[in-house]
Amino acid sequence: MASPPPLSSAKCPICGRPTEQAYRPFCSRRCADVDLSRWLRGAYAIPDQVESEDGDAPAADASGSETSDGRS
Ligand SMILES: [Zn+2]
Repeated sequence: MASPPPLSSAKCPICGRPTEQAYRPFCSRRCADVDLSRWLRGAYAIPDQVESEDGDAPAADASGSETSDGRS
């Protein structure tokens, strides 16, 4: 990795204009909103992970390993 670009040369990832300090890393609140909505949509678009069909290993919560350790 090389040195990161200086902040002064940062550009709005939405429209490409120079970023405004108040709205970094965007140039305006509008662009920030655009990015947020995009992000949300992208998050919703991510499909659920397929659970293991075999069910061979529960989440380590079924074993009786935590029985008599609550009193001291
Ligand atoms: Zn912008």
